[in-house]
Amino acid sequence: MTDILQQDIQYMAGVGPNRKKVLSEELGINTLGDLLQYYPYKHIDRSRIYTIHELTGDMPFVQVCGRILSFESFDMGHRKTRVVAHLSDGTGVMDLTWFNYAKDVPKRYKTGIPYIVFGRPTVYNGRVQVVHPDLEPAENIQLSDMGMQPYYNTTEKMKKRGLNSRALDKMTKTLLDLLKQPIAETLPDFITRPNHLISRDEALRQIHYPHNAKELERARLRLKFEELFYVQLNILRYASDHRRKYRGYVFSHIGECFNGFYHNHLPFQLTEAQKRVLREIRKDTASGRQMNRLLQGDVGSGKTLVALMTMLMALDNGYQACIMAPTEILAEQHLRTISSFLEGMDISVGLLTGMVKGKRREQVLNDLADGTLQILVGTHAVIEDTVQFARLGMVVVDEQHRFGVAQRAKLWSKSDNPPHILVMTATPIPRTLAMTLYGDLDVSIIDELPPGRKPVVTTHAFDSRIPSLYDGLRKQMQQGRQVYVVFPLIEESERIDLKSLEDGYATLCQVFPEYRLSKVHGKMKAKEKDEEMQRFARGETQMLVATTVIEVGVNVPNASVMVIMEAQRFGLSQLHQLRGRVGRGAEQSYCILVTSPKLAEETRKRIDIMCETNDGFRIAEADLKLRGPGDLEGTQQSGMAFDLKIADIARDGQIVQMARDEAQRIIDADPTCQSERYHMLWDRLRQLRKTNINWSAIS
Ligand code: ADP
Ligand code: MG
Repeated sequence: MTDILQQDIQYMAGVGPNRKKVLSEELGINTLGDLLQYYPYKHIDRSRIYTIHELTGDMPFVQVCGRILSFESFDMGHRKTRVVAHLSDGTGVMDLTWFNYAKDVPKRYKTGIPYIVFGRPTVYNGRVQVVHPDLEPAENIQLSDMGMQPYYNTTEKMKKRGLNSRALDKMTKTLLDLLKQPIAETLPDFITRPNHLISRDEALRQIHYPHNAKELERARLRLKFEELFYVQLNILRYASDHRRKYRGYVFSHIGECFNGFYHNHLPFQLTEAQKRVLREIRKDTASGRQMNRLLQGDVGSGKTLVALMTMLMALDNGYQACIMAPTEILAEQHLRTISSFLEGMDISVGLLTGMVKGKRREQVLNDLADGTLQILVGTHAVIEDTVQFARLGMVVVDEQHRFGVAQRAKLWSKSDNPPHILVMTATPIPRTLAMTLYGDLDVSIIDELPPGRKPVVTTHAFDSRIPSLYDGLRKQMQQGRQVYVVFPLIEESERIDLKSLEDGYATLCQVFPEYRLSKVHGKMKAKEKDEEMQRFARGETQMLVATTVIEVGVNVPNASVMVIMEAQRFGLSQLHQLRGRVGRGAEQSYCILVTSPKLAEETRKRIDIMCETNDGFRIAEADLKLRGPGDLEGTQQSGMAFDLKIADIARDGQIVQMARDEAQRIIDADPTCQSERYHMLWDRLRQLRKTNINWSAIS
């Protein structure tokens, strides 16, 4: 039997090749099944009649049933009229108002007979009114047939071809009427029943045409669950396959590198959280399994040190290690940090970035290949190409945002025995998002800052207050502290505008003639940039005026103030990262978010959250809620679950967890995908992987 849902949509009545082309290009709808899975974004309940007495100004579309008592006309000038009809249903009186083509309204409708009135209520002059309502004589309407009306998102191009929400509604209705047989089930009984999920057939019908809000909710739950369940099944099966296929290097002992460093070179006590994470890593690397671990910890929580000690474990067992950073500046900073931690120890550390060229590069490559170089610090790009290690045992990836599953997979496709992998992230990822994006990784969390840190005090200032802000900066610099001032980079298509930085820098030079200022931006040559940063780090300059190049990783404990100009232009995670540059020393630190007084609602919320909390997890949750997962940095490239049709990772956390638990049970019960009991699931997964490029990217 051929599945009707696989049929090309162009053969549907009223579609044809031209409309099919638009549907395909605009919404990716090619088959009847695609149409069925193009879900409405809202419904309007037309099964319910409200009383006028109940109405308030903040309701969505509503229906009332009443009789028109009288009409009133108002001359608006310019030959325009406003007509108001007074409608009563026995519980109260409301106004129906027309502006356009209003003159003949009294002719169109009769007083005294009942009408069903449909529209969005507002309050005007203390009275409830509906502007430009839909009116139908009540006798023409069978309420029980009305139900909830679906509304579909469409684009301008679609509307030009007559494909508006109404048209999609009609097509969907036609299709559902055509489907006499129940739509094939994709989840077995033993999953739907205990989770109280309705059948796929019911769900697909009711997601479009529910009889009431409760039915709609059940349909949504079923479809969200199914979507998230297969995403989880895909990830977890991948992880389990991977574990069976590859063995990990066994780091059997802890030796001179680790212990020598720990006892003789470590300048402070590890935090309890750092110790716990190191124990987790130690356990993984001794187990014979390949470690795939995500290390989450807020800015300044001391991840770099954990990374270094993890690499020392590899060295103790005769392996090489490398740490990869997303930018050259960061790679160079890691090199400095690591070299200074290891001072006085006999360990060789090298750098490989795009800037390392010629003889120096050759030397590094040779030393890696013959094993004399023990720790390599580099950028992601470099590691991805032709670098050969003698015995690479541990890879640390800093700032995971630009390093998704597919890239990680490349690392181990190089050898039969993949190195252990530790992925570090400074922007905490909400749990449900992590489960979906990095669902194949084990997670460690550093939830404690090194002792003695005072939380950064964050305030919001309108730009009219900049003069007094300058006074504050001067006071800090008089006490020997240093200051960051960050300006946004303005990207207009190709061109990147540094104007706000240049202007700002000139002004600041005038305001603070007694101090030395550094200026850094991404368009500078790496060497110049680095020299400027170094001058600031050494305390030779007191103020660093910059664009976001200082966003990640820079460590200058003496800097105590972070001023962010035009803060409205920055996203939440960016603001949090920037703030993390201060508060690294013993002094009280400040972060000042400067904006113009006119702020959009969402910007206002971002600023408020920043002023309220220093907790990176809370900020990440808020960010996810404000922007939705599709816009979060890194999620696009990470290419996994972000063609979700109905589930919303920000809001459906509980369903993610449900789906994850269920998928884990299946994997545990049938790790090799051979059991007859589960074949429906494996078939469906195979089918989804075939039609979904992102899914098969992780294989
Ligand atoms: P992250 O990479 O997590 O943002 P870093 O590794 O850069 O944080 O650490 C921030 C600062 O805290 C560094 O100066 C580091 O040397 C210091 N640090 C790390 N661990 C500790 C600790 N246990 N006690 C005191 N200072 C620490
Ligand atoms: Mg770091």
